[in-house]
Amino acid sequence: MIKPWEIFDSRIRSAMIAKRNLPFSKITNEKKTDLLNNLFQHETTNAARLIYIHIPFCNNVCPFCIYHKQKIGDKKIIAAYCSVVIKQIQALADTAWVNSAPFKAVYFGGGTPTSIPVEYLEAILNELKKSYRLTNDCEITVESTITDIKPAMVSRLKNAGVNRISLGVQSFNTAVRASLGRTATRQEISKTMAVIREEGISNICIDLMYNLKYQDFGIWQNDLSFLKTGPITGCSVYPLISASNRANPDKIEEKNAIETEYIYFIEADNCLVENSGWERFTSVQYGHREKGKAVYVTAQGQNADLLAFGSGAGGRIRNISYIQTGNIEEFNNNPGNFMSDSIMFLTIHDSFLKLRNIFGLSESLYLNKIDYNPIKKYFDDILFDLINKGLVVSNTDSFNLTQTGRFWAANISALFAEKIRDLIPQIADGNNA
Ligand code: SF4
Repeated sequence: MIKPWEIFDSRIRSAMIAKRNLPFSKITNEKKTDLLNNLFQHETTNAARLIYIHIPFCNNVCPFCIYHKQKIGDKKIIAAYCSVVIKQIQALADTAWVNSAPFKAVYFGGGTPTSIPVEYLEAILNELKKSYRLTNDCEITVESTITDIKPAMVSRLKNAGVNRISLGVQSFNTAVRASLGRTATRQEISKTMAVIREEGISNICIDLMYNLKYQDFGIWQNDLSFLKTGPITGCSVYPLISASNRANPDKIEEKNAIETEYIYFIEADNCLVENSGWERFTSVQYGHREKGKAVYVTAQGQNADLLAFGSGAGGRIRNISYIQTGNIEEFNNNPGNFMSDSIMFLTIHDSFLKLRNIFGLSESLYLNKIDYNPIKKYFDDILFDLINKGLVVSNTDSFNLTQTGRFWAANISALFAEKIRDLIPQIADGNNA
């Protein structure tokens, strides 16, 4: 019988990589005006709306990191950057689309948002609160490192409306952390959590990673146990991404085979949901069901529209996606409107709106059978195969990923993406009855 870690030849470790096969086409500059009018001058029917702000600066650049960022430097660059982000927010503020429904989550990611002076984060948030409708219980998350956290800064973030902090911990083990270029010890991590709590932010999510140098199974179990003893309310669990996707592949060696990854993943998946009151929100995100909500992350797997501001930030509204330039200098020269050449718009056939629900299977853990019915014939073969392999189970109203299915979630996304790529021409021809 095939072993659960041998179901696919190799493991895709990031949803971003899995989605590369989706058949988007670029929208030409000539068509941008019509597109933007079409997109923003109409009210939305999608109540799930999110905002992402990318802050691409870090005090130190970690060797394993695949995100868009640079080491913090000239203060003028940061000031110019935040000013363009605010201009972009203002540019959409009076549109019918923005005003038609409140936003339920705002996420400051990076990079490390707390590496820049806190007044910039306050200014961006104040602009959002002034010009956009946020829900009364809007989740506002700021990512940070342990060493950036200071009481005065957390207090100011809290006063500005931040109610969730996401910390890049990776491991509680001091030696493992040191191998990642992280200097804070386990004791310092505990003190940081206490500071955040004392300043009034109680939703604290951390990232943990497996497949790390110096990390053995005992250290992993110890990390998972330690997590349960502190004030942590949520946790994302990731493997180290393979060398070919890292900016600096020589610094960290990938040592574990897929079998070992599987064992680490299963240990975390079992351990985290055994934590009192915790549940699984997505295939990588866990948290306390009341105190550790992760609205931004969960809604992304459920077809939410996403407005994204900042260099390298990617947004999505209906069947339109856009990506902003990763070049910070170019971004800073952007006059702040969405007509700028530094923003690329992409589109996919309308039918993808239906297909996106299926694609969400791997992130949101389930596929609603009602959404699936109109396009059932195209995907039955994939689902049949996934069920046969023990990756998906068929329940009354939905298909759900099994535990092994969650381990292979990004591979399953990639299967759907490839199928969608092959199907779009047929669907575009009107053959989707
Ligand atoms: S892991 Fe976090 S702190 Fe390190 S370089 Fe990446 S974004 Fe910056």
